Amino acid sequence: MSEPQQIKVVDAFDLDDELRSLLKPGEMVRDAQGRRKRLPRYFYEIPTHDAAIQIRLTPHFGINEFILVDLKEAQRLQQFPRYIPCAVRLLAFFLEQFRTVAGASIHIAVNGGYRSPAHKMSINATEHMWGTAADIYRIGPNILKTQELIAKFNDVAEELSDDVTVMKYGHDTGISVDDHVHIDLGYVTVVPREISEDRMEVPQENRPRFAFEERRRRERRAPQIAVTANNKSE
Ligand SMILES: [Zn+2]
Repeated sequence: MSEPQQIKVVDAFDLDDELRSLLKPGEMVRDAQGRRKRLPRYFYEIPTHDAAIQIRLTPHFGINEFILVDLKEAQRLQQFPRYIPCAVRLLAFFLEQFRTVAGASIHIAVNGGYRSPAHKMSINATEHMWGTAADIYRIGPNILKTQELIAKFNDVAEELSDDVTVMKYGHDTGISVDDHVHIDLGYVTVVPREISEDRMEVPQENRPRFAFEERRRRERRAPQIAVTANNKSE
């Protein structure tokens, strides 16, 4: 019997100076319309590359798919341990539904999931900085480069829930898309149930605020199915 996987949740105010300056927990940033948004404070801490692959957020999405970054991301944030806002698990849930309706595996590109406020593309607030947006470049055999395909899968995404927003086909960066489907849930932040909130928004010397998230039933079920299958084939 293997131990259920656990993910460590950290209060980013307790991270070191460099990480705090890059992740900017609780700071305000403006979106393209000038509206102020407060950045997330609670992050999953992913210790290693192996852990990133092993930790499943849903049956078909490992946490590794959301932390792929390009060289525009801050150097420190490309090293393990890696950090991603806890709201990513809500995104994974919607992507799992999307995958079911689309009927094919979907590919989130490098730099298509979480982008920190320090990322060179993070000029205005975007949902990518909240971990609640994904850029999907391929669905099954379809490379999403045509207006027809993007419109088709935008419809699929929007049908999932009124909480899902997409970008229309077009060539204006940040407003429209022409080579992927952008799916987001808005500026959602999550306070994991295991966390005790504290109004002190400064590092706590003697009392690091972290917790281990209790993993969900379905997440734990997946490896057990694999074991059963192996046993049957013997
Ligand atoms: Zn996007």
